[in-house]
Amino acid sequence: MAPRKPLLSFNLATLSGSGSSSNASIPSSSDDDDDAVKKPWHHYLPLFGTVFLILAPHPSLLYVLVDFHLQTLHKPLLFAMHLIMTYTLTFMALSSLIVLVARDPGRVTSVDQGDGDEVGLREALMPDIDFSKPGSWCRKCWAPKPERTHHCSACGRCVLKMDHHCPWLGSKCIGHRTYPAFLHFLCTVSLLATYIAVMSIFALWYAFNNAYTVNADTPIHELFLAAAGLIFSLVVGSFFLYHVYLVSTNQTTIEHISPFILLRHLPPLPRTGHTLSDPPLEPELSGPQRRLVKDAHGAIHIYDVGWRKNWAQVFGCCHTFGWLLRLWIGGASPGDGKYFPRNPYEIERDSS
Ligand SMILES: [Zn+2]
Ligand SMILES: [Zn+2]
Repeated sequence: MAPRKPLLSFNLATLSGSGSSSNASIPSSSDDDDDAVKKPWHHYLPLFGTVFLILAPHPSLLYVLVDFHLQTLHKPLLFAMHLIMTYTLTFMALSSLIVLVARDPGRVTSVDQGDGDEVGLREALMPDIDFSKPGSWCRKCWAPKPERTHHCSACGRCVLKMDHHCPWLGSKCIGHRTYPAFLHFLCTVSLLATYIAVMSIFALWYAFNNAYTVNADTPIHELFLAAAGLIFSLVVGSFFLYHVYLVSTNQTTIEHISPFILLRHLPPLPRTGHTLSDPPLEPELSGPQRRLVKDAHGAIHIYDVGWRKNWAQVFGCCHTFGWLLRLWIGGASPGDGKYFPRNPYEIERDSS
């Protein structure tokens, strides 16, 4: 989508004198590029770090598999099972990583995908969208901002159902179109790390009890694999469990860590008796009011329509062989990422 230019605009970087991200404030002639902000090469270094961390244990893994399971235990079936399991999980993790890097996380486009100048016109004429509501128009892209869409300052664009910006995965956003692959990546890496940790701990235990039958170098590799497996299964696994909770309650990371987003869903305030904006802005709130909003945010999940439907919104099957894609790369979320059913009971609670 070609973002619309405002009729009158100010160069905020110049006015504020911050000097940050100067290329973001200069209008570009190729605004329909994938990313409005061209990222420097070093933004992609963490991605190489991610790939390196996935592949680094494999020399030790192969050494342990061959030396311990094949040459010491003489169990080719066990060797084959471990080999297939670890490399299938590695292949699945790398597949979803490729999807995360290559797939657009969710571009804000018009419904009919017409030419660039028509973008937003149809939506602007739709009576059910109120662009005067806070958060429904992006002043940076100068384009409509559908529900749950956020503007990523690092990417310089809006992302549908943005979850967060991830520097470790190619410095890209995780959004409506890449969230299933992100969950799949976390799940497969956690499973891989746990599998390697358990296998190595068993091998280490054998080495302690049969010190004279194992190769002297093998326990060192097993110790490295057990430590790395435990650390990654704890770190990535807890991150995966956190996202399981978010999917089950139908929240994005941004929605979960930003309690004052709830203010956008408040009903119109009475006109007199206060000096607040309508809806209230975060800096206008007093200490007790801020606490009230934070407490309410912990209890109210606007988009939570039951855990089954919440999971179907992320992993809902669209094709005959959808299960295969979900198993391999996480598949894709159904829907256009612009409209989401709300829980009427939660809205009532928010209003009261
Ligand atoms: Zn934007
Ligand atoms: Zn981003």
